[in-house]
Amino acid sequence: MDFKHIVVLTGAGISAESGIPVFRSETGLWEEERVEDVCFPAALRKNPQKVHDFYNKLRSNLKDKKPNAAHLALTKLQVEGQKQGKKVTLVTQNVDDLHEKAGSTDIIHMHGELNSILCTSCFRRYPYFEDSSLNSVCKFCGKETLRPDIVFFEEMPYQLNKIGKALNECDLFLAIGTSGVVYPAAGFAQAARQVGACTVEFNLTPSAVRSSFTKAYYGKASETVPKFVDELLEGKLSFN
Ligand code: NAD
Repeated sequence: MDFKHIVVLTGAGISAESGIPVFRSETGLWEEERVEDVCFPAALRKNPQKVHDFYNKLRSNLKDKKPNAAHLALTKLQVEGQKQGKKVTLVTQNVDDLHEKAGSTDIIHMHGELNSILCTSCFRRYPYFEDSSLNSVCKFCGKETLRPDIVFFEEMPYQLNKIGKALNECDLFLAIGTSGVVYPAAGFAQAARQVGACTVEFNLTPSAVRSSFTKAYYGKASETVPKFVDELLEGKLSFN
């Protein structure tokens, strides 16, 4: 089948094999911190330095991390797909920089980025690679009102209009390494299906929204995704 508008959604699972831990665990902890203490606006009000410190650690941990075969396959899909007239929209829930390191472009980081900072006074966002603190100064407005550029629970993800438009046009939707628990991203497969797209999930086990997918591949993303991308680019995929 020849797909022309492809939307790819990635989650923490695609980066797991690169050594970045996933989010969800039975203990409800992310890197030994309670989710409530580092992922909610209330945490930022209550203990902002703790929130800065948490994301400083994650940002610093990115430095030696390398993209794996799944990230690289998605770059190949973008580059080779374009030559075949395919439009590939890459949306990630990840806050890491592994799609960038793999050479992908036009990446929509719907949940923000570790290598970015947000000013709560002038609302500008800009690339940021150092540690941040309560005393860090916004390079635009000069105020000490910077926060990690991470979309917390209860906050609005970035670029939903652009994502919605791509979903409306897509004929193939791929979800890779995402648990299907965090909305609105968890609803994207259903939205793609409603416009008639084929929807494919890549995970270790069925996600919470498995019923939204027409096809699924279970196994390590570094193995399933490159194989799928090659078959897609060679026109060998069949959805019957
Ligand atoms: P999640 O942690 O809730 O789920 C990860 C999913 O990936 C699970 O379903 C798991 O089965 C699957 N998985 C794990 N290893 C895999 C592999 N090798 N191959 C294929 N699948 C694999 O992640 P989520 O759904 O993305 O939601 C968590 C949120 O936390 C994200 O929105 C993100 O903002 C944040 N987060 C980001 C990172 C990152 O940037 N790398 C890491 C942790 C959390």
